[in-house]
Amino acid sequence: MGHIHIMDEFLSNKIAAGEVVERPSSVVKELVENAIDAGSTTIEVVLEEAGLTSIQVIDNGCGMDEEDALVSFQRHATSKINNEHDLFRIRTLGFRGEALASIASVSKVHLETSNGESGIEVFMEGGHIVEQKPGSLRKGTNLTVSQLFFNTPARLKYMKTIQTELGHTIDLMNRLALCYPDIAFRLAHGANTLLKTNGRGDVRQVLAAIYGVANAKKMVHFEGHTNDYTISGYATASEITRASKNYISIFVNGRWVRHYTIQKALIDAYHTFLPIGRYPIAVLHIEGDPYLTDVNVHPAKQQIRLSKEPDLIQLIETSLHRAIRQSMQPPEIMEKK
Ligand code: ADP
Ligand code: MG
Repeated sequence: MGHIHIMDEFLSNKIAAGEVVERPSSVVKELVENAIDAGSTTIEVVLEEAGLTSIQVIDNGCGMDEEDALVSFQRHATSKINNEHDLFRIRTLGFRGEALASIASVSKVHLETSNGESGIEVFMEGGHIVEQKPGSLRKGTNLTVSQLFFNTPARLKYMKTIQTELGHTIDLMNRLALCYPDIAFRLAHGANTLLKTNGRGDVRQVLAAIYGVANAKKMVHFEGHTNDYTISGYATASEITRASKNYISIFVNGRWVRHYTIQKALIDAYHTFLPIGRYPIAVLHIEGDPYLTDVNVHPAKQQIRLSKEPDLIQLIETSLHRAIRQSMQPPEIMEKK
């Protein structure tokens, strides 16, 4: 008799959770991304104790019928890709079918969802369904994750202070709001509203909500395109700077990514206009055929590989540099004859 066996689903989900669910903000990220993929126009996130006690995400997206709601918690269950071909043309934020299974395996979940015709309410603990019943027919999804890591004490011990955990979620929600100005977001911590956007599609208003009206007013708009990519964004001209690069947000096809070379291109566009050790507040959107972008680098999907990167870098540097220079030119004064 051999020693090797295939581990059960609950154990393998818990292992996957180790990668996907690092802290409360990772849960918020996965749930809000699901809400975005579901076509929601309003998304509300309510945290108790920075999400360590509970994280509730309420959306008005397409919702799920009874059958889908039950399947959605299985590992590799997704409505977003069907075959290998789709994997190279991903237009949704999710595609791995792992998030709900992972989150449910390390928490207690209460799901209420409906597609408008069929609705269900499900209670789960550690990935097991403990109760299910017919739910309301309000279209959309209302998912609460409570007692995160209740069954993985080692991970729970690793959690930082409420302030630190909350900081991660605020940062994430700010980026999502900047990326999706058409969606009305609200982030609340207990009774306090920490972020609220109106969903009217105006990036400058979202910038104002996050970085203040005065800074938002002074940001310059830039745009440009190559045959493969279109870029657009807002950035502070040189008089408004920060000591950290954390105020730079890069989005590729609607996904917030961390990309060293693109970030560097954005900073390099300032040439000598930025004091040493100072960085702009900036938002950069890059759109291109999903075929050119590989997001399947890490389970958290924040890293990305881009084809034709040198052209893109060049485009960012020249477009932003031009916009900054223009903003610094003194206004033309008509001379009297
Ligand atoms: P993925 O997003 O990678 O497909 P998830 O585990 O995050 O995997 O979700 C599994 C499936 O559950 C999704 O593909 C989607 O069909 C469904 N789903 C999850 N959240 C929502 C939501 N808020 N609204 C509608 N459908 C959802
Ligand atoms: Mg998902």
